[in-house]
Amino acid sequence: MTATDVRPPHIIRMHAADNVAIVANVGGLEAGTVLEGGLTLLERVPQAHKVALVDLPEGAPVLRYGIAIGYALRPIRAGSWVHERLLRMPEAHTLEGLPKASVRPQPLPPLEGYTFEGYRNPDGSVGTRNLLAITETVQCVAGVTQFAIERIKAELLPKYPNVDGVVALEHSYGCGVAIDAPDALVPIRTVRNLSLNPNFGGELMVVSLGCEKLQPARLMPPGSMPLVDERVIADVGANAEPLLDVVVLQDEAHVGFMSMVESIMRQAQVHLERLNARRRETVPASELVVGVQCGGSDAFSGVTANPAVGFCTDLLVRAGASVMFSEVTEVRDGIDQLTARAASPEVADAMIREMAWYDAYLQRGGADRSANTTPGNKKGGLSNIVEKAMGSIVKSGSSTISNVLAPGEKLRAKGLTYAATPASDFICGTLQMAAGMNLHVFTTGRGTPYGLAAVPVIKVATRSALAQRWHDLMDINAGQIADGDATIEQVGWELFQLMLDVASGRKKTWAEHWKLHNALVLFNPAPVT
Ligand code: CA
Repeated sequence: MTATDVRPPHIIRMHAADNVAIVANVGGLEAGTVLEGGLTLLERVPQAHKVALVDLPEGAPVLRYGIAIGYALRPIRAGSWVHERLLRMPEAHTLEGLPKASVRPQPLPPLEGYTFEGYRNPDGSVGTRNLLAITETVQCVAGVTQFAIERIKAELLPKYPNVDGVVALEHSYGCGVAIDAPDALVPIRTVRNLSLNPNFGGELMVVSLGCEKLQPARLMPPGSMPLVDERVIADVGANAEPLLDVVVLQDEAHVGFMSMVESIMRQAQVHLERLNARRRETVPASELVVGVQCGGSDAFSGVTANPAVGFCTDLLVRAGASVMFSEVTEVRDGIDQLTARAASPEVADAMIREMAWYDAYLQRGGADRSANTTPGNKKGGLSNIVEKAMGSIVKSGSSTISNVLAPGEKLRAKGLTYAATPASDFICGTLQMAAGMNLHVFTTGRGTPYGLAAVPVIKVATRSALAQRWHDLMDINAGQIADGDATIEQVGWELFQLMLDVASGRKKTWAEHWKLHNALVLFNPAPVT
């Protein structure tokens, strides 16, 4: 038997119209438990799962967050456990006739005076870490690059104490792919924009095999990176062609493996010198570029962690910072809320365009948005994608959505941006990193040790039980909200302060502490050959 909560029975209802609520107590509640208000449980209801507050006839809408997350497949009596096998999922919203820029959220008062210590880059962006990134054009070079990086870490890094580390931008793309297919644009621009992430200080170093389809000049065409090109031109003379720092393994000058490794190390040294000369300086909080996402969600995600992140999103927008929320399949069911919050009809149209593109992409693969939910989500009390989406959208807070990015694009404006990405944790994180995020916030209810090598990841637990069990993996415990020990606002402020500390390098996240780094995963909707 699981440990039960000593607290009195506690259920959480999200909206006055809701006819279900979720059980907050650790270990769930037993049959016969009398709830606040006098309702008696007819059966055991696990923690984070739903209980019917009234008798629900067959076909009745089951309301959570004030919207129908499903329809009763058979009569459900008040006090029963409402799980996914009792519900029919609503149809997806059509993308026709949606409200566009119809809601004008009250402009939030500016939040001034908050700063962090960051690395100012030549292009004006700000890094939260000072890393050398080695961009790979193709997976073929990954082993050699990793070998060289181990030697760089052991032999060179001790001489450059202001450099935080060296990372390979390793991926499975670059060859064996239909590189001229229209959708190949997505992985190619993702690799390019990854290498321009603010945490890499504007230093660009590429390792290429030589015969691959994704040639360095195709990855980094002159003019695609004006600032980097300008600096290279400045280095070699104003009339010179823009140059890239590329080590080509098939170059005939390389005789034997060690010759390749030494070339990479020699080039790395040039960049390490420049990176090492950089110092943190005080910059306004408006220089934060935060990507938010969730993974391993449960029914508490939309009650505790995601609302606290949403409150913090509003704080960031008020401070003039950039915040991205993503995960197409997790917001698809709330598209009407999002298009209504768009800053203009054009922004709403861009959002609809991304959703339509993704609908078609899923359809090509014989799937739809319902493919999103996992066994863990369901065990955690989330019956379907509609319920999951309603809890996911709250990460975006309440402000106007000012911009939309297609997958792999670079951020264009401050404020709240919808960066369209798959919900896959690794692909979403990779695409937000390509968009230029310098800080990542990740909420989880089931628990995931997710981390990235190049951008700090602050992990927010939705439940106290998880935060306690994973005390050395979770950075913030939003479960305090369900326990009644903290408000959404308090946890939102705690997260905001932690962001400034982590961005400044004063604090490390647990994922950084343990060096837990997931692979970068490109989104390649185009064919492979
Ligand atoms: Ca995710």
